[in-house]
Amino acid sequence: MPIKVLIPTPLRPFTNQQSVVQADGQTVGEVLRSLTGAHGELAPHLFGNDGKLRSFVNIYLNDEDIRYLDKERTPVGATDTVSIVPSVAGGTSVLEAPVDELPALTASEVQRYSRHLIMPEVGVDGQRRLKAAKVLCVGAGGLGSPSSLYLAAAGVGTIGLVDFDKVDVSNLQRQILYSTADVGTSKLAAASARLKGLNPEVNVVMHETALTSANALEIFRQYDIVVDGADNFPTRYLVNDACVLTGKPNVYGSIFRFDGQASVFAAPGGPCYRCLYPEPPPPGLVPSCAEGGVLGVLPGIVGTIQAAEAIKLIIGAGESLAGRLLLFDALQMSFRTLKLHRDPACPVCGDAPTIKALIDYEQFCGITPATRAGAAPALPPEFETTVDELKARIDRGDDIWILDVREKTEYDICRIPGSTLIPLGELGKRIEELPQGPGAPEIIVHCKMGGRSAKAVAQLRERGFTRLKNVKGGILAWIDKVDPTQSKY
Ligand SMILES: [Zn+2]
Repeated sequence: MPIKVLIPTPLRPFTNQQSVVQADGQTVGEVLRSLTGAHGELAPHLFGNDGKLRSFVNIYLNDEDIRYLDKERTPVGATDTVSIVPSVAGGTSVLEAPVDELPALTASEVQRYSRHLIMPEVGVDGQRRLKAAKVLCVGAGGLGSPSSLYLAAAGVGTIGLVDFDKVDVSNLQRQILYSTADVGTSKLAAASARLKGLNPEVNVVMHETALTSANALEIFRQYDIVVDGADNFPTRYLVNDACVLTGKPNVYGSIFRFDGQASVFAAPGGPCYRCLYPEPPPPGLVPSCAEGGVLGVLPGIVGTIQAAEAIKLIIGAGESLAGRLLLFDALQMSFRTLKLHRDPACPVCGDAPTIKALIDYEQFCGITPATRAGAAPALPPEFETTVDELKARIDRGDDIWILDVREKTEYDICRIPGSTLIPLGELGKRIEELPQGPGAPEIIVHCKMGGRSAKAVAQLRERGFTRLKNVKGGILAWIDKVDPTQSKY
């Protein structure tokens, strides 16, 4: 019984450019075998050497992924349609230009890329694809530094960078695009100079702006691939949705302390970031690298993986991370991959998407002006004090007890003399360590900037403490106004 099989564009060279082919069989597996019997060159694109369907090829019977039916044993009928949905890669490049339209290599490029040219997976045509490719790096920070450096070194013809920050000295622990001399200058100006210095053959395009719902689609349309080096959830969801809506693969990377993740989202037929994480975590629940720290070399590893994935997508080599989530643990020095499925109910890449235009991502992630300020509770004015008042009371020898609710690692960097450290998270179970009862000294609470200590004061008020004050501006204000010999962080 002949069954209709839909052939995707990248595989049509192996079916004489036919988009629909008839093949016989009682099951999906039989149909695919008779298809590859008639079109032999198709076989290696669908089946591995072990005879199994390749993991990056999804087969659909009508609208259903056969992995959720009876796999290759799924029976087929005369009115059914079998669709082949390959993830990008596996022999096909995301670039649509035919080889004869790719730019030629100059003599100096042949010399520069000689280690690529002698590899069969790249070769002259692969290097010409790299030269034709346009890759956008969202964020020129920890992840954007190694990814853009390696993409430039590899000869990706056009590299776009989106960022609007200035270089801060605390960036240099991991953001290897920048040098100490760049501190205080525009990141993009410094990045562009560094990338052009590494490889003058590449074109660096600077988008010195915040990526927003108003400009993302217009910017993404100018590129073939987007490398996501965002450091916040609103931008991650914005990048994902804009990639799905413009049809650009999203090479994802994320980092926290010692843990990294990478994947390729929004590739044809593959899952997107929302299929994996439909909802963002509530604001404040997952700390950012600015709050929780990150091992400096970690973005080097994850950003380099992102560059490798982008290059594979361009030259059409190997199996991309589409449909897989790579988990890296630098403490264990271990890599694991988990399988990901496209969620047919996904609001952006699902079968009946409800998100067809970009939305307000700050609102989607629950970010309000109050949460942006660290969700510190507003205290009545009688519970607030300043670093100047605190200094005067210490000098007068007032009966006060100074409580520091930061973490031990922060206390080791700088502290107010005479303070007692009890991190905010331990306050509830260490309450008996606080002075209590008639005649007890007043408790002066501080943290880094005043947010956590305001929470501590609110907690202690609930516990019945009344003689309390929160130090506005925290220890950073103390260092600015009282003791500039200590180090800020
Ligand atoms: Zn999705």
